[in-house]
Amino acid sequence: MDIIVCVKHVPETAEAEIKIDATGKAIEKTGLVFDINEWDDYALEEAVRIKEKFGGTVTAITVGPEDADSTLRKCLARGADKAIRLTDTRFEDSDGYAIAKILQSTIKSLPFDLILTGALAGDDGYTMVGPILAELLGISHATMVKKIELDDGVAKVNRELEGGLEEMVEVKMPMVLTVQTGINEPRYVSIMGIRKAMQKEIKVLGLADIGLSENDVGEAGSWIKIEKMFVPSVEKQAEFLKGTPEEVSAKIAEILRARGLI
Ligand SMILES: Cc1cc2nc3c(=O)[nH]c(=O)nc-3n(C[C@H](O)[C@H](O)[C@H](O)COP(=O)(O)OP(=O)(O)OC[C@H]3O[C@@H](n4cnc5c(N)ncnc54)[C@H](O)[C@@H]3O)c2cc1C
Repeated sequence: MDIIVCVKHVPETAEAEIKIDATGKAIEKTGLVFDINEWDDYALEEAVRIKEKFGGTVTAITVGPEDADSTLRKCLARGADKAIRLTDTRFEDSDGYAIAKILQSTIKSLPFDLILTGALAGDDGYTMVGPILAELLGISHATMVKKIELDDGVAKVNRELEGGLEEMVEVKMPMVLTVQTGINEPRYVSIMGIRKAMQKEIKVLGLADIGLSENDVGEAGSWIKIEKMFVPSVEKQAEFLKGTPEEVSAKIAEILRARGLI
């Protein structure tokens, strides 16, 4: 079983103080700590578990700058066999569609039975790269995957739905699955594993290596244009009315009348 895992090197934004940068279209990244996208950590662990059960290879692949090597090294330390970084100044300003094209142009020439991505990236959160990648490769996909059971060219996959529900679907290989957090418990990386990973090769490919043109990537190859990024204003959501039932009902009537609702 040859498995490819798409991993994104993302800033940890949950606890950090976020500022909008001078362009007004992105966050200020200086001083933020970058690590593997949380969802991709689960996807990588799932890939390694499948390899341990069925044999085969796990290849981790990222589109990102040199810094993203630390995320790839983490993948190698956790059990990935190969790592590829796709990098080129012309990849800058790519949206999710362009990122999926860059990934597809490389993945199509690799052997694979299964491609795992995260359900979403913790920074931009478009939830689009996995499904677009599947479409570009002309293969099936399932999203928000909480459980994977592989058997003879098909996978029985549990998908997370709203309201605590799950559904089980059958998907034919080769396929893309976008992995939800909690599917497993990512393993601890030993110091030995990290040391070994430091010696492994990370293959670096640029635009000239992947058969795409300048017009396919970056802003020219993207469908989405960011207009602005902003902190939404906080509006009062709820008002507690106090008093006797008569006073409260009189206040409610007053509010509804003031808004032209009665
Ligand atoms: C107009 C525009 C300009 C942008 N410019 C830049 C820029 O200059 N630099 C920049 O870093 N980002 C930029 N971004 C954000 C970047 O393009 C996003 O990574 C991309 O839109 C994918 O969306 P997402 O990260 O929300 O992915 P999602 O679709 O939410 O991610 C789902 C999964 O896809 C995979 N994935 C996503 N991104 C990558 C990746 N890079 N490599 C490998 N796997 C991946 C991961 O498995 C991830 O879990 C830009 C976005 C837009 C819309």
